[in-house]
Amino acid sequence: MRIILVGAPGAGKGTQAEAIKAKYPIAHVSTGDILRANVKAGTELGKNAKNYMDAGKLVPDEVIIAMVESRLQEPDCKEGFMLDGFPRTTPQAEALDKMLEKLGIVLDAVVYLDVDDEVVVKRLTTRRGCKACGEIYNTVFKPTKKEGVCDKCGGEVVQRDDDKEEVIRKRLSVFHEQTAPLIDYYKKQALLATVDASGGKDAVLRLLEQRKAG
Ligand code: AMP
Repeated sequence: MRIILVGAPGAGKGTQAEAIKAKYPIAHVSTGDILRANVKAGTELGKNAKNYMDAGKLVPDEVIIAMVESRLQEPDCKEGFMLDGFPRTTPQAEALDKMLEKLGIVLDAVVYLDVDDEVVVKRLTTRRGCKACGEIYNTVFKPTKKEGVCDKCGGEVVQRDDDKEEVIRKRLSVFHEQTAPLIDYYKKQALLATVDASGGKDAVLRLLEQRKAG
């Protein structure tokens, strides 16, 4: 299975991806996760990307496209993959089309997770994550037992630099301006399926299962 998850920041792409991965052994390619791993490791790529990320802006297309092209050729993508957070601009989508053609790969679906902006703001300003193991918490719905300490590994639980309200609003406007046109782009290719992001953690998985059965 080869799919793309499109949605505003905070729509729950990562959460849906977890449910899909539990059922299908496909590679989860999250450009945000790859960039954050590079920031953490202090690589050149990470150093360059950090300023864009902290400001809620997109990292330049050519950097992201090269990163995804090499990632898609890794062995774990052979059986299928799920792209999460890529493509995010029309040039990225066009580059992906070329890449897939070169690799002889056909996409199964592009799933658009539809969510309201205010839901995103509420969800992301309360999101926290463990610096050590990556476990995600929420100050309202899933607080840590001890403030700032991960229940799972004892690591430090913090707010992502780009989860501050002004940055979230910037990321949402970037989404509407630069990423939303992809909805039409994939509609024209007859690949688009829209899922209501409030439909539960496995809403996308259920849609994929239905399509497989039907
Ligand atoms: P995410 O975790 O997917 O919300 O990504 C966090 C940040 O990484 C974004 O706000 C961007 O700065 C950067 N980023 C992730 N994916 C992309 C992409 N496909 N194109 C440009 N920037 C990206």
